[in-house]
Amino acid sequence: MDHDIFFDHTSTTPLAPGVLEAMMPYLGEQYGNPSSHIHKLGRGALSGINEARKHVADLINCLAGEVVFTSGATESNNTVIKGLGLSRLKRGGHILVSRVEHYSVINAVNRLKSYGFDAEMIPVEKDTGLVRLDQLERMLRPDTFLVCLMHSNMEIGTLQPVAEAVKVVKGKNKEIHFHCDATGSAGWVPVDVKALGVDSLTLSAHNFYGPKGVGALYLKEGTQLVPLLDGGFQESNRRAGTENVPGIVGMGEASRLALLEMDERIRHLSALQSRLWKGLEDNVEYIHFTGHPDFRLPGHVSFWVEFAEGESLLLMLTLKKIIAASGSACSSNMLAQDEDELIHSNVLDAIGVPQDICSGSVTMLMGRRNTPEEVDYVVSQFPPILERLWAMSPAYGDMMKQKGAPAG
Ligand code: PMP
Repeated sequence: MDHDIFFDHTSTTPLAPGVLEAMMPYLGEQYGNPSSHIHKLGRGALSGINEARKHVADLINCLAGEVVFTSGATESNNTVIKGLGLSRLKRGGHILVSRVEHYSVINAVNRLKSYGFDAEMIPVEKDTGLVRLDQLERMLRPDTFLVCLMHSNMEIGTLQPVAEAVKVVKGKNKEIHFHCDATGSAGWVPVDVKALGVDSLTLSAHNFYGPKGVGALYLKEGTQLVPLLDGGFQESNRRAGTENVPGIVGMGEASRLALLEMDERIRHLSALQSRLWKGLEDNVEYIHFTGHPDFRLPGHVSFWVEFAEGESLLLMLTLKKIIAASGSACSSNMLAQDEDELIHSNVLDAIGVPQDICSGSVTMLMGRRNTPEEVDYVVSQFPPILERLWAMSPAYGDMMKQKGAPAG
């Protein structure tokens, strides 16, 4: 291959054609501050933001006024979790989060724990990583005020049954705030906040072909929370600080394109996904796919291979110009945290991947520009790379000896 093959769209995505062009005026002559809308320059910036807000709102089917621009997914998750916590510091209360949430959710909840709140993790199904709705129902308490369930997990690709989970929660108590982190899904698959029934939802531009440093938080009309940042009155008092105008405009354009091209992107990615999955299944011994086989992000394939360390596999792939991501290694020191902390596990641990034989998984998320030829090339690189890794593995050698075959 004469070029790098980027199968690492879980980490970030390049700008879609047209996004940079949409941003450029706001990095140049349209340099106004949207709060200074008494003059033309400020009004220009404000109208750029307003238009972007409409595009983001259309992408997730909400009102423009329900979109709060932030610096990204981490800030959106922190804003809603800590904002709700701060608004009831004296009362305290109970929070539930799924075991496969991103650390920007888990650690924000941990912070609230350190302020005296109670929090627990909802288990997920073995292998698929689907949240256990029966357990969720059982774990709800009279003082539960917040439930967090992500839309999709980037490490294993599983799409969660968010609408069903909302029904379970609201069926018990309508007052409980339901937050959904849709960082992995927004712009990739339909995400409709009204159909889901969530009270808040996180999205991030750089995960769907927009710029870095900008994200959004959907906050259902009427939601009261203490702002994370104290300062001016931007974003209707929900997020202080002069707006990242070029970034927001870029996010708006990425949202418009995502909606326009969604069906086509899904078709393209689903075809690549089936090809990669089947290619690996047919050509790679000792492979174990992770996450749900059907309810998953299009273009996402994740797995681990017995006797092959995830990081080593990734490194060898890099030498062949293949760029992918590592799932957290099972031996991650995250596991060694204090038992009382919410951080005591990672996603592989949550789905029951055996720690004694797995040392790290591989996550591949393809994107709009990847091709079937690239998939075939990637598949063809696995057998020789694994031969080399297995030849270095004492456990593989022992297994082959037991079988009576020469190792490597
Ligand atoms: N939520 C999820 C589900 C994620 O995968 C990530 C990481 N991409 C984040 C939140 C945090 O995103 P960022 O680092 O861009 O703020």
